[in-house]
Amino acid sequence: METLYLVIPCYNEEAVLRETAKQLMAKLEKMIKENLIAANSKIAFVNDGSSDKTWNIIKELYENNSMICGINLSRNKGHQNALLAGLMSVKEYADMVISLDADLQDDIEVINKFVEEYYKGNDVVYGVRNDRETDKFFKRFTAESFYKLMNFLGVEIIFNHADYRLMSKRALNGLEEFKEVNLFLRGIVPLIGYDSTVVTYERKERFAGESKYPLKKMLSFAFEGITSFSVKPIRLITSLGFFIFSASILMTIYFIVIYCLGMTVPGWTTITCSIWFIGGLQLLGIGVVGEYIGKIYLETKKRPQYIVKEILN
Ligand code: UDP
Ligand code: MG
Repeated sequence: METLYLVIPCYNEEAVLRETAKQLMAKLEKMIKENLIAANSKIAFVNDGSSDKTWNIIKELYENNSMICGINLSRNKGHQNALLAGLMSVKEYADMVISLDADLQDDIEVINKFVEEYYKGNDVVYGVRNDRETDKFFKRFTAESFYKLMNFLGVEIIFNHADYRLMSKRALNGLEEFKEVNLFLRGIVPLIGYDSTVVTYERKERFAGESKYPLKKMLSFAFEGITSFSVKPIRLITSLGFFIFSASILMTIYFIVIYCLGMTVPGWTTITCSIWFIGGLQLLGIGVVGEYIGKIYLETKKRPQYIVKEILN
């Protein structure tokens, strides 16, 4: 039997933590009894610099249950970093790790399916929401537009998959190779490779406490995702510059014809020509400079160029 760790980032989650721990422990105990996972499987709570009693509760849970462990971050670093901290801390003890939110919005009954898929040889199992009925219209609309925009920008990302996923030890070792500090995990995980599959589930409402993702954080998260993975915005500027620059040549011909026909006031032709020319040229110039900045950006990320899956011999 293989060891499973659950990693749960917690930011000001005192309202839900005890109940979450109770449900997850019951779940793991059941799975251990059914011989699906090893008896040393554990639940790791990561305290992301909470300002409430979250860490005290984690300590108390740890003292009373051998199944619980805790990781305390020095300050609030955000969901993605807290998650990474958890994953990297437990990876040497676990064969597989599942990340999930503290509010149990993700249906924990599908953990069985995750594990089953792991035993079938998948290194990554993505939890995907089957619909967004529990979301308010606004959240659903913005979230789905986000996934579509990401796809349009050429970022490989699983539709309606958040951070509820299983990763094997070797997938986590792959993740460790990504040194980037602008962290957008759901964009990185597909880049790791290995066999993966999708398990769908129904997402519930938060049972207590408030969402820690207000609109502002959501927008900056989306922006992070786009700018960390796509240089397409730069390309759009280059194309636009190229387009306006080409148009300016045609417009110049037009302006000169009008000038020769004497249909303008003095000075008009020179001014309009310069506006078009310089405008197009500048955009094109910015785009070209942007291309190089894009390259520098990708280089500085020091992403692994490959990860070996198997070697014969
Ligand atoms: N979270 C975190 N650090 C933060 C914000 C959120 O660790 O700065 C955790 C939070 O405790 C929860 C998870 O990230 O376990 C998802 O947050 P939430 O449920 O509030 O987001 P929503 O479900 O509303 O998108
Ligand atoms: Mg939530």
